[in-house]
Amino acid sequence: MAIPFVPRIDDAPYFESTQMSPLIQRVIAKNPSKFSYHGTGTYILGSQNVVVVDPGPKLDSHRDALMKALENRTVVGIVVTHCHSDHSPLTQWLHEFTDAPRYAIGPHKVYEGFVEEDDHDPSEDDPTEVKEEEEEERETIDLAFAPDIAVTDGEWFLKTSEFSLQAVATPGHTSNHLAVAMDAENALFTGDHVMGWSTTVVSPPDGDMRQYFESMNKVIGRSDSILWPTHGGPVTDPQPFLRAYLDHRLERERQIVAQIAAGNNTIPGIVKVLYASVDKRLHRPARRSVWSHLRKLVDDGVVATTDGGAPRLLGSYELI
Ligand SMILES: [Zn+2]
Repeated sequence: MAIPFVPRIDDAPYFESTQMSPLIQRVIAKNPSKFSYHGTGTYILGSQNVVVVDPGPKLDSHRDALMKALENRTVVGIVVTHCHSDHSPLTQWLHEFTDAPRYAIGPHKVYEGFVEEDDHDPSEDDPTEVKEEEEEERETIDLAFAPDIAVTDGEWFLKTSEFSLQAVATPGHTSNHLAVAMDAENALFTGDHVMGWSTTVVSPPDGDMRQYFESMNKVIGRSDSILWPTHGGPVTDPQPFLRAYLDHRLERERQIVAQIAAGNNTIPGIVKVLYASVDKRLHRPARRSVWSHLRKLVDDGVVATTDGGAPRLLGSYELI
């Protein structure tokens, strides 16, 4: 099916429902940040009986925009890709407002006993910001969310008169990450697994680089005509984009191994070199990304921790 027009995300206004394709509308929440780009894109699928994908952050303005977009229509399902605070929190309201069932892989996994190491480096703070909120540093988690219906990988879980939806489990960004395929437009809603503007944050302990690679290969193995990420514009030629995305990660892995081989064997040290050209305020999430690569490399038997313990954010590493 030909897509008549695809507005650039930069042109898409907040608070309005934009028709993106015959069966897809998008409402963008006004929550721009270094993680959410222009904002969270909430998708409304269908004409009369609709499915909402990722209701979005708990913002009154976004709730009001969705209420307006859904006027005189019936919400038959709510799909949540994962439980980061820019994706799922408004689900509770929408569920109560519409009575529609919530579909997801499951709630966010809880890591009992996991203790964060403090890697705060004051030299990376933004002097123009009065206070750097913790939620600005990392995507915060909506632990309150739980689906009414847990979907499993490959399952065609929802059908309307216009389309059917299939669950495509894509762990990596989070362990419960779900992408959703829509048969009618051969489209895949990728959540944060693939973003339209940047690489995805894979942040331990829930983010897992090995799973992320596997999920990337899984999506590469599909033949979707178009990808609709939650953040950024649609990807209209998925294969080269996905391969470039995966190559970027593989190249990063090689660079990390090369740094350790050269004796630069801590995560902060590696980030200082590999992300030298990147805004310092992004070095903290970058360290988590390098950490997730190192957890995989230790698991692969390529790298070891110098103290023989678990791979830590502030630990040191050596080649095997
Ligand atoms: Zn996310």
